[in-house]
Amino acid sequence: MKNIKLVAKNGGGRSLVRVGKVKVGQGFTIIAGPCGVESEEQMLETAVAVKELGADMLRGGAFKPRTSPYAFQGMGLAGLKILEKARDLTGLPVVTEVTDTRNVSWVCEYCDVLQIGARNMQNFSLLKEVGKVNKPVLLKRGMNSTLEEWLNCAEYILNEGNPDVILCERGIRTMETYTRNTLDLSAVPAIKELTHLPIIVDPSHGTGRLSLIGPMSMAGAACGADGMIIEVHRRPEEALSDKDQALTPAQFGEIAKKARAMHRLWAELEKGQA
Ligand code: PEP
Ligand code: MN
Repeated sequence: MKNIKLVAKNGGGRSLVRVGKVKVGQGFTIIAGPCGVESEEQMLETAVAVKELGADMLRGGAFKPRTSPYAFQGMGLAGLKILEKARDLTGLPVVTEVTDTRNVSWVCEYCDVLQIGARNMQNFSLLKEVGKVNKPVLLKRGMNSTLEEWLNCAEYILNEGNPDVILCERGIRTMETYTRNTLDLSAVPAIKELTHLPIIVDPSHGTGRLSLIGPMSMAGAACGADGMIIEVHRRPEEALSDKDQALTPAQFGEIAKKARAMHRLWAELEKGQA
């Protein structure tokens, strides 16, 4: 692969990305929460519920990249302050998206992991900016991107001095319209061949369909993903964004349990013990 240097595997082991007590790349890390922060009550109630059901980290967007300018754009700084409260209440680290270089310092002040969304994967000035901070970055795959393009984006971040990148396969555009995206699970073992960085899957955006999130979570664990990021809302019918893929806390709890069991089986088989 062209120009893949710092992220290349080079025969070495796999990197762990530490976020507080969580080590991404060891075991199966589950990140859960709403698509967007909508109010303090919504975020805190969802955060407490997913913690009880086994989440290791929280998610919630304060800056939402939306297809329509008329759609809910996120709460901005007020949303970041709510995320900080959710972290204080649960003790769980918080992942949130940063969409603009001007907001990087705010996001660093209030949250633990900076997410670069699919639409910004190749926003090179944003990549350079998050490469200069001392917080881990969750780098989603662009919906029209090859693995080589994606890894070059991770290379941008490492090249600026930030070694802590977590990759996330969130589905790509194909001719299929039944699903929102096509979750490319072959990317998981391929990425593990090519780079030392951890990789997680996003079965929520990867399918856009409630009924498919459970099976694809299991499949992600079965092909060796280091974790998943999944959308959960205390009352999915009220969600202001991505309503059709929002799980109830109870649905999330079931899926989290099964995906962890699948990951344990995968790890045993890899060690040759099963
Ligand atoms: C999200 O995680 O809320 C999101 C917008 O994801 P993506 O960038 O993968 O579409
Ligand atoms: Mn979403």
